[in-house]
Amino acid sequence: MDLENLRALVRDVEGFPIPEVTFKDITPLLADLRALEYTVEMLATPYENAGITKVAGIEARGFVLAPAVALALGAGFVPLRKPGKLPYQTRREEYQLEYGVDGLEIHVDAVGPDDRVLLVDDVIATGGTARAGIDLIRGLGADLVGMVVLIELGFLGGREKLDGEVVLRSILMYGG
Ligand code: AMP
Repeated sequence: MDLENLRALVRDVEGFPIPEVTFKDITPLLADLRALEYTVEMLATPYENAGITKVAGIEARGFVLAPAVALALGAGFVPLRKPGKLPYQTRREEYQLEYGVDGLEIHVDAVGPDDRVLLVDDVIATGGTARAGIDLIRGLGADLVGMVVLIELGFLGGREKLDGEVVLRSILMYGG
């Protein structure tokens, strides 16, 4: 298994969810055990000695990857969800999406000053979602160690929104 095998298992779906977007569908990759194992290894390994206490995942596909990374690192999992989904007290950040405006919420007690947090998502596109996630975690006083994504859409410049603030790693780069 190598990165080109992973890349071959990411399916481009033209025009989803709106005409001008090519959606990176990772379900073929998730369905392949060896690809899934390799993906989790690639996401988690660089942080093995980083003292990570919580892995935060972004709804929805970040929820698929982040708990596996959390288990690999011996850390807990924290969900960052779309507005109105988390039941307890929340903090919210609004952001611009590649296809619309949205918000992200975290439970106020999900992380705190004693936590070292790794942020995980499937795709970084324009970077707005990542920006909101970073602000939520830091807003609760936690130490954000880094962010890792499976796929970076380099041509959309999301990385520039985060530069100098957090170290972003991506496993598969498209058009960067
Ligand atoms: P952005 O805020 O523009 O960086 O968008 C990132 C978020 O939207 C991530 O949570 C992705 O799951 C999702 N997303 C944005 N663009 C795509 C795409 N082309 N394919 C798959 N997911 C995407």
